[in-house]
Amino acid sequence: MLLKKSIDFGKHQNVSYANGKVTFGKVALNVYCYVIDGVLIDTGSRSLSKHFEPFLMEADIDQVVLTHIHEDHSGCASILEQKRNVPIYIHEMSVQDCERNPEYPLYRKFFWGKRKPFKATAIGSSFSSRTGNWDVIRTPGHAKDHLAFLNKETGQIFTGDLYVQTKTKVVLREESIPTIIRSLEHLLTYDFGEFYCSHAGYIKVGRKSLEKKRDYLIGIQQQVIERYQQGYSPQQIHDSLFKRKYPITKLSSGEWDSMHIVTSILEEIKQPI
Ligand SMILES: [Zn+2]
Repeated sequence: MLLKKSIDFGKHQNVSYANGKVTFGKVALNVYCYVIDGVLIDTGSRSLSKHFEPFLMEADIDQVVLTHIHEDHSGCASILEQKRNVPIYIHEMSVQDCERNPEYPLYRKFFWGKRKPFKATAIGSSFSSRTGNWDVIRTPGHAKDHLAFLNKETGQIFTGDLYVQTKTKVVLREESIPTIIRSLEHLLTYDFGEFYCSHAGYIKVGRKSLEKKRDYLIGIQQQVIERYQQGYSPQQIHDSLFKRKYPITKLSSGEWDSMHIVTSILEEIKQPI
């Protein structure tokens, strides 16, 4: 069985996008990068570099901003560094990691390729594009360095991997559901309507979708805590809330698992922040 690769290009309002896809058996993954007002938001994965390259090389850009360091978002940054003379910005905590060879499991290298080191600069709390000013919004939870970008002129917001879908069923081992809930609450204090997600694309009913996700996660959190207080074990809590097994869980040897939703919630009630 081979890894199938493809890409779509398009334009929505003032935003151009490339949406790369990798498929292996039942597992299909995709990732977007966006260009708006001279800014490239995320770079696509190294495994799809041949597919992303025409878009990245022709894009009318003078800077690159990364929502986080995960390899599907930063994989082509080294190509941009070599072939285009544009600065690349990321959360300050990841600047050093960008310069190193990354370590992540084999299945991720298989799907997304191996990110090469590149030089990045700390982004700060705001930046300017050709015609607009942007807020850089810290939204950890999916990853510690996760950022969202809000164009204050247009109200468009780029949410990286904060949303992806409303009813999250599997998360990475490093993710924290309580932190994601706080990030969603924080993002919802800003003035915006629609948003652009790195995996789901353009979401017109943006605010509503983020509110729904927040409410869903708060519901899960409450159920986990209730069952914990009733004496359920983490495994029993998991089995009562998440019935389905997802192919990514086996494929990733458990790096993606519904169980991490339960444990990240329990961690926080055992050790309140
Ligand atoms: Zn990610």
